[in-house]
Amino acid sequence: MLETRDHGVKVLRPDFDPAGFLSRVRGAAARVLLLDYDGTLAPFRVDPMEARPYEGVRERLDRIRQGATRLVLVSGRPAREVRGLLGLDPVPEVWGTHGWERALPGREPSRVDLPEATRRGLDEAARAESAGKGPGRLERKPAALALHVRGLDADTAERTLSGARSAWEPLATRHGLELREFDGGLELRVPGRDKGEAVRTVLSEARGSSPAGDVAAAYLGDDETDEDAFRAMRGRGAAILVRTRLRETDADAWIRPPAELLRFLDDWIEESTS
Ligand SMILES: [Mg+2]
Repeated sequence: MLETRDHGVKVLRPDFDPAGFLSRVRGAAARVLLLDYDGTLAPFRVDPMEARPYEGVRERLDRIRQGATRLVLVSGRPAREVRGLLGLDPVPEVWGTHGWERALPGREPSRVDLPEATRRGLDEAARAESAGKGPGRLERKPAALALHVRGLDADTAERTLSGARSAWEPLATRHGLELREFDGGLELRVPGRDKGEAVRTVLSEARGSSPAGDVAAAYLGDDETDEDAFRAMRGRGAAILVRTRLRETDADAWIRPPAELLRFLDDWIEESTS
């Protein structure tokens, strides 16, 4: 993996030019900044409801909005939780539950209509896991079931996850569900939507409403589920991995939170508000 440094970001793909990208941000007719929440804007916490943005993030996002950037959050959490934790007023657009929910500014999140069979599959998986009474924390989301093991010691976490994986694999097959790991747990999801879909929808709307479709866009994320979004950005804007340690990724560049994240946001502010 190529790694060079330019404008504070570590470039991972030879065709990505940070300086060129920032001048796009300055000159474009419209700007869209798409952001994952956990691990990207906020550090992980054992209690996910304690995961508040890094100091300085809120103020910068507010300034970015003043520079006529459309701000869009894209998270695996329910949209309502992201809104509450982010604490921005007015609330920006939030896509929740990996693209299953969309909450436009000032509106309630869209309803999640799942096929009946997949809903039954999630119910059954929740019962199987609760019956096991493992030490993990089970969370039912609108279109997924997540088992969190953050805060457990490594051995217990591994045992808990492998137990859940054995119990959920046959259910996933039977009910057409998808098993995916995330940073801090395992998730059984209804397939068909992902963060990539959210990115494609938002950017095609933005291009449609901008003169000559001239849109500068970036997506920032940390987790495996952000890889769908990174791939969706190809040819549409910059995909930035935000993470303490580098891993295999389809992102264009890599930054470490919080310092390099804040610098990226400052660069965006400078280019878009001057
Ligand atoms: Mg994340």
